[in-house]
Amino acid sequence: MRSPVPRFRDVERQASGLEPAHCLPPCHERQNNMWFIRDACGIVCAIITWLLVVFAEVVVLFVMLIPSKSLTYSLLNGTLFNSLAFLALASHFRAMCTDPGAVPKGNATKEYIESLQLKPGQVVYKCPKCCSIKPDRAHHCSVCKRCIRKMDHHCPWVNNCVGENNQKYFVLFTMYIFLISLHSLVMVVFHFLYCFEDDWTKCSTFSPPATVILLILLCFEGLLFLIFTSVMFGTQIHSICTDETGIEKLKREDPTWEKTTSWEAMKFAFGGPLSMTWFSPFTDLSCQKDTSDPVPMFPQGEIIEEDVIEIPLEPH
Ligand SMILES: [Zn+2]
Ligand SMILES: [Zn+2]
Repeated sequence: MRSPVPRFRDVERQASGLEPAHCLPPCHERQNNMWFIRDACGIVCAIITWLLVVFAEVVVLFVMLIPSKSLTYSLLNGTLFNSLAFLALASHFRAMCTDPGAVPKGNATKEYIESLQLKPGQVVYKCPKCCSIKPDRAHHCSVCKRCIRKMDHHCPWVNNCVGENNQKYFVLFTMYIFLISLHSLVMVVFHFLYCFEDDWTKCSTFSPPATVILLILLCFEGLLFLIFTSVMFGTQIHSICTDETGIEKLKREDPTWEKTTSWEAMKFAFGGPLSMTWFSPFTDLSCQKDTSDPVPMFPQGEIIEEDVIEIPLEPH
């Protein structure tokens, strides 16, 4: 009688069944290697994001702060705005260039599955696109062309997936952009109030029409960013606290994982107990180095054929 449990096929028979375009040789990326997605749309969006921050920086400095009569006002606001803008761009860079939690390509091999020491009857899934064994809660991203652990969504503005390893940087990016947008809007209001009372030619180094156009553009940009980032920030914090990614929310599936408390989930996402490091894009997520799921750097063996693999009840 044939066992209902799919068995591992003979590895010799598989080579012809593989599609070379999909099942490339296993890549041997280390987790700390530089990560950068070569997606034209994402690269353009990321450059636009940086240019918009630079535009805000130029308008704040050269239209509002440098011509200001009060040196204290200029220094205080200039320091605050530049620090927040620097943290926003640093967070953006870390979100873009951090491996979001990619599963090694081509690890769907008999050797790897055996190394997982799964219980008989347990089922694992192979991603047919990147030929990896999908860990629980991982999803395949068609832009990154990889399976990403706890993938929330692919964000073209940071040209990367938001996943387990870079969600902190993405949240910080939205938070710092929100803060610089709010700060620039407050400064624009103060500048208009000041200039209406004073002589327009004295409150800016630019001509009055150029000053008004630049300030209106800054207001427009600030408002758009303020709305966009507050929604993104709120959504991300909600995802972390409910221990449910954006994709899992969309699919509305019953959770197959054990949910943690909101605070534990926050600590996991931000890399440890509450401290100043939560707000720093320069600290790594040391607590997320998961040793319970050994991932070989150099996947061995041939890729198996089945997409659903159930561990045989009686090993032969
Ligand atoms: Zn995949
Ligand atoms: Zn992606």
